[in-house]
Amino acid sequence: MLKKTGVPSKEELMPAFPSEERMKEGPVAIIECFQNIPCNPCATSCPQDAIRDFIDINDIPVFVAEDCNGCALCVANCPGLAIFVLDETFSETETLVKLPYEFQPLPTQGEVVDVVDRGGETVGQGRVHRVQNPKSFDKTAVVWIVVPRALGRDVRFIRRKGD
Ligand code: SF4
Ligand code: SF4
Repeated sequence: MLKKTGVPSKEELMPAFPSEERMKEGPVAIIECFQNIPCNPCATSCPQDAIRDFIDINDIPVFVAEDCNGCALCVANCPGLAIFVLDETFSETETLVKLPYEFQPLPTQGEVVDVVDRGGETVGQGRVHRVQNPKSFDKTAVVWIVVPRALGRDVRFIRRKGD
């Protein structure tokens, strides 16, 4: 499915998700990078070395979820916009999703936005919890969105009202 549509199937996504035990421990990166391309900023930007150094620049990232603290530096540094952070411990009923955002103007804290899945379909609404946009992120902001728990593993983009 990934090769035909660019959208991974549930089976293709499975390796991107850490164990259920790790998901219960707090924020963690989800790396949806499935193709061998010459690219490694995810590994070089991770302060925890949770994304191991590449042996070959074309490697697929080797991620050790137990070493990740969910800081989202890799989210801002991935040119393929292929990394997200999920925090399923945010509340009993909600998941926090940290996602890359390269449009202007940036959303604002408290704003309600439509949330969109990997295929571009609007699947519900979310609330902007925080926007990170320091100079070190080099124009890729990281937007923190709170969504209903059932949507957390599907939401990969936001659409602002009026977009
Ligand atoms: S979220 Fe932070 S600790 Fe985790 S892989 Fe990305 S950069 Fe490393
Ligand atoms: S930086 Fe992004 S696109 Fe490049 S290898 Fe890492 S996850 Fe894949």
